[in-house]
Amino acid sequence: MSKLNTAEKTKLFKSFFTGLENVYGTYDLESGKVRQIKEPVTDKVILTHLKGDQPYGVYLLTGDKTKTLAVDFDENELTLPIAFVAGAKRYGMFSYIERSKSKGFHVWLFFEEPVVAKKARVVARKILTDMGRPETEIFPKQDCLNNLSYGNFINAPLFGKLVPKGRTVFVEPGEPVKVCDNQWELLQRVQKVPPIRLDAIIQSCNLDISKNPVYRKPEDTGKHVLESTFGLPPCARKILTQGVTFAQRVCTFRLAVHLKKTGLPLDLTIETLKSWAQKNKPTEGKRIITDKEIESQAEYAYKNDYKGCGCEEPVIAAFCDENCPLASHKNGE
Ligand code: SF4
Repeated sequence: MSKLNTAEKTKLFKSFFTGLENVYGTYDLESGKVRQIKEPVTDKVILTHLKGDQPYGVYLLTGDKTKTLAVDFDENELTLPIAFVAGAKRYGMFSYIERSKSKGFHVWLFFEEPVVAKKARVVARKILTDMGRPETEIFPKQDCLNNLSYGNFINAPLFGKLVPKGRTVFVEPGEPVKVCDNQWELLQRVQKVPPIRLDAIIQSCNLDISKNPVYRKPEDTGKHVLESTFGLPPCARKILTQGVTFAQRVCTFRLAVHLKKTGLPLDLTIETLKSWAQKNKPTEGKRIITDKEIESQAEYAYKNDYKGCGCEEPVIAAFCDENCPLASHKNGE
């Protein structure tokens, strides 16, 4: 793939990350305070962003159309964007994970030409609902603009100041724990979604585009998050987010079963578990479970018809939450 000069980079960037042409967003590098700038989105604005002098935020929605959609996961939990990518792939769409500026991830979907924003948002909401995360923020946040507002901007990727810190960068599509070595090459080989794909998904899933419910973010109580996040039961959420100090092999196997049930492909489950293992703090001088052991546990979970949550196993029961909907009829393998 050819090396791009500055003008080509600017052009490529603009082909993905522009919307409204006479307004953009930014934030103060010191205070983080966001503001709107009612000026044209010129090449200079983009270059200033890419160089790292002033961040640029894009208003994606133009009328009732958008050529790009982003989902904003504001937790440092890689399993969430991975699950979204897997969900989109199941519907025949490629999507790309960006590590956002300070915490969490954006997942971007790019369309071959501007699409009706409502259709794109309904489809993204369907994938999030399948994941058990319907309240996750989607940009554009509205189906169409009214005369009073420009909608909401989203910070664009590749802000020069943060790129060297591994933020605002895309991860390797097949290896999401790794930042992609060549961001421009990745953008050059992005697979865009044809508009007709949205119609096919809407039709095959029987989605009603007259109803696109607005989801409020839940109160940030640990209980709600544990019960609704990612379609995983509380025990799996606890194990996955906190890591463990004991029984790493049992926990690896059980997490693999849960991730399999969410529809995550085996390779992504293995990557997720390898990244999870780094949170483990084994006691009594024991070592962290090796990559090889993780691979064999995950393959075992995927090869056989395991579906149980392992509620009866003392190791898993140690992470049980009495509010779990399954608590009243705990099942074994
Ligand atoms: S009831 Fe079973 S699935 Fe639910 S939290 Fe407890 S151990 Fe996990």
